[in-house]
Amino acid sequence: MNKLRYFPVVISAPSGGGKSAVKNHLIKSDRRFAFSITCTTRKPRPGEKEGRDYYFVSPEKFEALRKNGSLIEWAEVHGNLYGTPKKSVLSLLESGKIPLMTIDVKGAKSVKRIFRDAVSIFLLPPSLSVMVKRLKKRGEGERELSIRLKTAKRELKEAFGYDYLVINDKLEKASEDIAAVVKAETLKLSRNCAFVKDFASDFKKIK
Ligand code: ADP
Repeated sequence: MNKLRYFPVVISAPSGGGKSAVKNHLIKSDRRFAFSITCTTRKPRPGEKEGRDYYFVSPEKFEALRKNGSLIEWAEVHGNLYGTPKKSVLSLLESGKIPLMTIDVKGAKSVKRIFRDAVSIFLLPPSLSVMVKRLKKRGEGERELSIRLKTAKRELKEAFGYDYLVINDKLEKASEDIAAVVKAETLKLSRNCAFVKDFASDFKKIK
């Protein structure tokens, strides 16, 4: 059997769409996935851990990483800088894992430019009212909420550029759907040309 070569999976969603929740659930329930850690200048939220959720860096350190080309993409979201270190994705691919990247819509485009075989998934809650409810539950105040909703409206327009849409109703179902996307993608002929070519060359061995 040909050796399975994985590819990065990029998940985007408006704020409150459930990127972190789905990512955490997926990584716990399916060991093939590993989170490619992002660095950020934003302050840790309660419960977030350095090196597990993010690399929390100063604006000066972030600027140095950006200047020396260490980041695949970077973006400013709600006044904070976020970036994906190239090394973090490459080392996961080398170890046979599926790098899972939760990235905003601009970042997702950059990832696709660098990793042409990456698969992009847009994640949405079942409705806008569920999204607002979840954001409130997360503790976002009125001002934050209104900023995030404005951004979400803009980001929705970008959804059409993604490969797949997954609805984040129940976490289990969303994770299963993402695993199904990966399964179908691994079976794409364009990812398995070597197997067909090897098979074809075996014809020379039979007379
Ligand atoms: P994002 O990272 O996209 O901003 P989060 O993962 O922080 O979104 O999700 C926003 C809020 O919604 C969080 O409080 C999270 O616990 C909750 N949430 C996310 N997905 C679900 C789900 N499938 N069911 C219930 N609550 C969810």
